[in-house]
Amino acid sequence: MDNLIELKHIKKCYVGDIPAVCDINLKVKWGEFVTLLGPSGCGKSTIIRMIAGFEQPTSGQILLEGKDISTMPPNERKINTVFQKYALFPHLNIYDNIAFGLREKKMDKALIDKEVKHVLEVVDLEGFEKRKVQSLSGGQQQRIAIARAIVNKPDILLLDEPLGALDYKMRVEMQLELKRMHKELGITFIFVTHDQEEALTMSDKIVVMSKGMKQQEGTPEEIYSRPVNAFVADFIGESNIFNGRKTREDTVRFMGQEFICNDNFPTDTEVDAMIRPELVELCDPEKGQLTGEVISSIFKGKRYEITLQCGKNEIVAESKEGKEIGEKLGICFPPSSIHNMLSDGMVNHLEGILDEEGRLRMIDGSFKVDITEIFPEYTCKDGKIYDSNHNQVLVEGTKVEMYFAPEDAALSDNPEEGHFLGHITSIIYKGDHYNYRIMSKNKVEYSVDDEYLWNVGDYVSIVVPRKIRHYNVYK
Ligand code: ADP
Repeated sequence: MDNLIELKHIKKCYVGDIPAVCDINLKVKWGEFVTLLGPSGCGKSTIIRMIAGFEQPTSGQILLEGKDISTMPPNERKINTVFQKYALFPHLNIYDNIAFGLREKKMDKALIDKEVKHVLEVVDLEGFEKRKVQSLSGGQQQRIAIARAIVNKPDILLLDEPLGALDYKMRVEMQLELKRMHKELGITFIFVTHDQEEALTMSDKIVVMSKGMKQQEGTPEEIYSRPVNAFVADFIGESNIFNGRKTREDTVRFMGQEFICNDNFPTDTEVDAMIRPELVELCDPEKGQLTGEVISSIFKGKRYEITLQCGKNEIVAESKEGKEIGEKLGICFPPSSIHNMLSDGMVNHLEGILDEEGRLRMIDGSFKVDITEIFPEYTCKDGKIYDSNHNQVLVEGTKVEMYFAPEDAALSDNPEEGHFLGHITSIIYKGDHYNYRIMSKNKVEYSVDDEYLWNVGDYVSIVVPRKIRHYNVYK
């Protein structure tokens, strides 16, 4: 059997029917190093806890070598977990910490000795048997936690942000160590992190997640070079992303200009066009497809990160040499540098119910809108809505579905000014504006474009434009 573990349509709801994880499908092969990557709260640990058996899926199946283990208790699974908190026993020395599980299993003493010695070698801490837990550094304690997990010879080692508590240098060292251990042990690793660099360095396969859903699965190279959407492109590495539209089979228009590109999207498709900074070519101003003015030049070790102002847009490029602030440069996007992704084209859906005053009360949010603003052909008299022929068309309780476009709305920090309140959950910079995703208290998601910079987590108020458009009326 090729797949060691398979998740089929896994869903997990902790509270009511709000999913923390939604319809996850994943196949992990024997000996693979798979990383679940995504921002905090996207459901990574929930998946790990379900594989370990600490949580039960609300629906879906977890197959281990083809057998459903969804209800199997954790201790019967050949799976061990290493957490960010090492959870070592402080009153036991290193030897006893590692031997603890084996003694519980009543393993022969000589064999325990052999196994403990072996795993201490694997984690590169030979001779630490008698040391106390408190005398070890964070990195060493995490190695002991790993030793304690692998001494059980699991088929799968689950690692839930295991390096999160370590300082940068130690983390980089442990990344390489973990890769070495993975190779040496030959077992399957499922690793969780929110750190894209860590995921790119270590994994055979990366699963990028957002809001409980899988966004993309692939090798580090695939995820970096061919992200499927703007979220993945923005989350992994630096990128320039612009709202674009295919104008012909081999051209895309963005920043008010056409560029040659290679993709299979048909003409008129709305796309997010991405160019990685290292693929932007800088040249003399008269030779560029665009010209820009250098607004920053930052030394990043092996290269400079150059930001250029190009009309209303900012473009980030890389260069071997630093540039002068104010310098004018030509900018080229060669066809192979442009990666187009299908735009999710999210518009904001609203539902309102007609009240006795002829106003639509929004189901999410507390605001009301005059129905005659949305249907100019209608008039309202005594709470009843009439069409231009004076026929009564809508009555109290009528449900109306409407939408507004992200670019027509704005954000405000004044709750009085806007119509919906929520927290910013993600930001994508699109050259001359930011696209924000905002989650309201009722878990309704909104998409708003704004030129000002807000932060993830900010509590904002969404100012809905007068240009609300209706699309459905339930009479
Ligand atoms: P991640 O590991 O990516 O940070 P988690 O899997 O911990 O994400 O959480 C996913 C979502 O589920 C979050 O919204 C979180 O608040 C929620 N959640 C996690 N554990 C519980 C729990 N025990 N009870 C209720 N909600 C939970």
